[in-house]
Amino acid sequence: MMADPAFGRVATDHMVMIRYKEGKGWYDAQVMPRGPLTLDPSAAVLHYAQEIFEGMKAFRTNEDGIAIFRPEANARRFQKSAERMAMPVLPEKLFIEAVDQFVKADADWVPEGESSSLYIRPFMFANDAFLGVKPASEYIFLVIGAPVGAYFSNGAVTVWVSETYTRAAPGGTGAAKCGGNYAGSLLAQAEAKEHGCDQVVFLDAVKHRFVEEMGGMNVFFVFEDGSIATPPLTGTILPGITRDSVLTIAREQGLTVREEPYAIDQWLEDAKSGRLTEAFACGTAAAISPIGAVKTSAGEVKIGSGTGAGQVTGALRTALLGTQRGRVADTHGWVHRVV
Ligand SMILES: *Cc1c(COP(=O)(O)O)cnc(C)c1O
Repeated sequence: MMADPAFGRVATDHMVMIRYKEGKGWYDAQVMPRGPLTLDPSAAVLHYAQEIFEGMKAFRTNEDGIAIFRPEANARRFQKSAERMAMPVLPEKLFIEAVDQFVKADADWVPEGESSSLYIRPFMFANDAFLGVKPASEYIFLVIGAPVGAYFSNGAVTVWVSETYTRAAPGGTGAAKCGGNYAGSLLAQAEAKEHGCDQVVFLDAVKHRFVEEMGGMNVFFVFEDGSIATPPLTGTILPGITRDSVLTIAREQGLTVREEPYAIDQWLEDAKSGRLTEAFACGTAAAISPIGAVKTSAGEVKIGSGTGAGQVTGALRTALLGTQRGRVADTHGWVHRVV
């Protein structure tokens, strides 16, 4: 189902690197040719996974420019992730400057085309050569990127609800964008594939009942009465910037919006009864992707027509993508022009 199985495999020419050392702060910022890193085998990240990242996209706009969507939000989330993982906080201005410099250096790599963009991956990891367990005192921040097309090919994705695995527990790292969360989700994603599904949906770790999110995307539900709902941010869900943008756009479109827990039994029942008319996944990589069916060990239930974006999903998608590309007026100051 992935339109481009090589998502992120093509390397661009440059990377940005900034180093950090306790007592010295951030230093040695540079735009440089992309290339391999040399690490000591005891580098802390390789043992205790002190690593965080972000995912953003640079788009070609209608006015022949290049823009990034809400980079301040990524910068702030990166700071929150750093705090949770006991890492140093990179100033917002430095984060945005690094991303801007990267996009300028690799501007030729930003593809043309409605569903194409330059995927940007800022990340930071612990680089102490030391095997003791403690927050590291040295870190490397990097920005790399890759031209990408659509994450899913057209049509709707099917999702598998894992009854075996959970993604994040209360008090854990679910709200931080850290590599470790992904390592723990890969087996659940493999389970989804084994059941013929594109993506896994996780339930809450306490009751195994409430829908949380997918491995790397948030989830929304659209009801017969025109209202929409998404699980609340209680600390176990990644606070998606796409999620936040969708909530804002939906309110402006006059929809009733709820952030509330939604139980899996209710989801199945509502899909069967027709009370649930649409569902979609959202995130930077996949934008807004309709969910056509939900599958559990009890069987598969179709959502709406099961074939693609319904009316509400379609309207939200048009508004979001239109804003990113400069076709819809940017009334929120979301579009950050780089070139
Ligand atoms: C990045 C991510 C999302 C989506 O966040 P966006 O800011 O919309 O890209 C959702 N869930 C998880 C687990 C993520 O890592």
